[in-house]
Amino acid sequence: MTEYIEIIDDRENNLKNISLRIPKKQITVFTGVSGSGKSSLVFDTLANESQRLLGETLPSFVRQFLPKYARPAVEAIRNLPASIVVDQKPLGGNVRSTLATVTDIAPVIRNMYAKLGQPKIGGVDYFSFNTAAGMCPVCQGIGRKTAVNLTKFIDESKSLNEGAVQFPPYKRVDVYTASGLFDNDKPIKDYTARERSQLLDGDATIGKVKMGSFNATYEGFLEKFNRNYLQREGEIPERTQKLISEYTHEERCDSCQGQRFAPKTLAVKVAGYNIAEMLAMQLTDLVTVLDQLAKADKAGIEILQEQVNHLIDLGLGYLTLDRATASLSGGESQRVKLVKYLSNALTDMLYIFDEPSVGLHPDDISRINAIFLKLRDKGNTVIIIEHDPDVIKLADWVIELGPQAGVHGGQVMFEGTYAELLKSDTLTGQYLAQGKKYKDQPRPAKDFLIGLASSVHNLQAQQLKVPVGLLTVLTGVAGSGKSTLLASSFQAAYPELVYVDQNSLASNTRSNPATFIGIMDNIRKLLAKANDQPVGMFSYNSEGACEACGGRGYIESNLAFMETVKTTCEVCGGKRYKQVVLQYKFQEKNIVEILDLTVEEALEFFKKTAAIKKKIQAMNELGLGYLSLGQSTASLSGGEKQRLKLAAEFYQEGSIYVLDEPSTGLHLADIQNLLRIINHFVDNGNTVVVIEHQLDIIRQADWVIDLGPGAGTKGGKVVFAGPVKELLGNQNSVTAQYI
Ligand code: ADP
Ligand code: ADP
Ligand code: ZN
Ligand code: ZN
Repeated sequence: MTEYIEIIDDRENNLKNISLRIPKKQITVFTGVSGSGKSSLVFDTLANESQRLLGETLPSFVRQFLPKYARPAVEAIRNLPASIVVDQKPLGGNVRSTLATVTDIAPVIRNMYAKLGQPKIGGVDYFSFNTAAGMCPVCQGIGRKTAVNLTKFIDESKSLNEGAVQFPPYKRVDVYTASGLFDNDKPIKDYTARERSQLLDGDATIGKVKMGSFNATYEGFLEKFNRNYLQREGEIPERTQKLISEYTHEERCDSCQGQRFAPKTLAVKVAGYNIAEMLAMQLTDLVTVLDQLAKADKAGIEILQEQVNHLIDLGLGYLTLDRATASLSGGESQRVKLVKYLSNALTDMLYIFDEPSVGLHPDDISRINAIFLKLRDKGNTVIIIEHDPDVIKLADWVIELGPQAGVHGGQVMFEGTYAELLKSDTLTGQYLAQGKKYKDQPRPAKDFLIGLASSVHNLQAQQLKVPVGLLTVLTGVAGSGKSTLLASSFQAAYPELVYVDQNSLASNTRSNPATFIGIMDNIRKLLAKANDQPVGMFSYNSEGACEACGGRGYIESNLAFMETVKTTCEVCGGKRYKQVVLQYKFQEKNIVEILDLTVEEALEFFKKTAAIKKKIQAMNELGLGYLSLGQSTASLSGGEKQRLKLAAEFYQEGSIYVLDEPSTGLHLADIQNLLRIINHFVDNGNTVVVIEHQLDIIRQADWVIDLGPGAGTKGGKVVFAGPVKELLGNQNSVTAQYI
């Protein structure tokens, strides 16, 4: 008998008192257009309440250290298990955080070297670059060091007296000119080797020298720079760090060749490899080595085999264990987080995934689907927010929210199995039932933008050739080299290129769609003119700001031992403005009421103000009509930010745009909209390159560039370039099998 999680009367954000049941120990996919309310239900209601309830079971002493969760706006939730949210927040991490450390594979590898390594040396701590015994003593286990850009630091054509030293804090050179060691009028380039080395690296035999009116121990410039700046990295203010970064660059540590470990550690081998080589191996190659060790009956290898295989199953076989977590994308981070849960024995948990298909080619998706089945079969409930047809197909149960976004959404449109969904007349049902549509008349390619040949990461001297004035889709399995190709061969050669990804809009609590799209000034001027007031009166960043909260709308209280608590400002009620500002109106609305308008409403309200109308029209075209003008950009999803950025660029001509996976967060219906927008950019004379796996977008390209054939060392080549119909049936392309 199936048990259910029951939600009764959910009113969170835009949800319209909805009630529904989610079958336990099954896979449920939530779908629906962007902004329909999926996150409001899954994250703001279910995950939030589960965390809150869990928090309440803890003693109050512990609770004070945990974030506070507000009760969601829902009548009741029954049968809610403890939840684990596997999201796409990048893992980040410091220089010592690698794929091996975050997955807990590092200790297993250390054990293996301590047990099986030849020759035998010390214990496990010899195999960590974070311990004194194991780390390279020169770079302290970082593998890299900061080196001075000497040509920038010193102008060799000048003498000390002529101002040879360029680094601003060291421009006063009295100690050097008074030392009597140098000819102060000789250009540095004419120094003898000994003079040069004394000036830069110092010389312990010199001892104290005269410096103005007192004596001090002599130090070379670089010696001093090292002591003053490089060795005090953590204590230096941000502004100074920026200055330093202009005079330095990162270099591989030449003592350990970037391998991070001490020489005696690197001398120890298992199966012919030292630990650094083992960590630098692509996972798909590493399993082969492990398989051989297991065959030779080496004990303890099975755990490592299982862990590495999990990563490969998740489509991450192209990574290496020494990969810095800070360089992993959101989608990769999500899959790495998942690994931890695959080996644990917990059952009856609720796992929540936010669009796990992001960054994945259809070929990768089949593998990640196997993982969801595995979690379910261990007795867990799995909830996935997803638009990808191949993931929806996997679901035991589908719930579609809609019919549209924002106030036009928030209702349950469909609950049932995938087979039933195909027959339903909801948006998702209709789109899934539709056949494939290939671009009938692709725009002809005439001129090409040709990038620099690149061999960065896994690329094999590849050149990117993008047809001018066309819509090009760059595709290929995850890890095939798409981002690397764009970043290295193209961006360097074309500085005017506009790169639009999910993070291209810096969001903070003070920016909103109106400020971002550039209509805030127009609105302020309209109000100022209508009321004969200064423009600053209508800004919450200046004169108009509520005095109690400084225009932030909330007050932050710092209590000892507790996290910072944000509470809505009682004086302005979160409206940010001071009371007097609210009496001034334009067309019977004050500034707060105007900012509360959705884009859709604002189109009507500003119908006589062409400058404003034109800009918000673009937002409406991009499917953002449901956002309000004053909603903080910090509350927007990645996809919403990306589209807002596009809206701001809407009327540009003759530029080059690179869009990184713009289908993220978009329903199949939204994608038709997106394609219209992209074609609008191309019709305006722009060149557009889209990195995508979404099949409907690939099918509508004028030109497809397929990278591969596989990932990592098995990829890195342009497999195909041409109109989409010519890709059909191509034997070398993995993408061809899916489109
Ligand atoms: P989906 O996940 O389906 O894209 P959401 O649940 O994120 O949709 O959003 C549903 C509606 O609620 C949208 O109109 C969105 O702008 C609004 N919304 C979401 N979060 C907030 C918030 N923190 N403040 C105000 N409105 C919000
Ligand atoms: P895609 O964009 O097609 O998913 P990427 O360009 O991200 O592929 O990756 C191509 C190859 O380069 C992969 O083997 C990946 O592991 C490697 N790579 C990407 N970024 C880095 C990095 N910052 N450091 C080391 N290797 C990287
Ligand atoms: Zn080193
Ligand atoms: Zn206030």
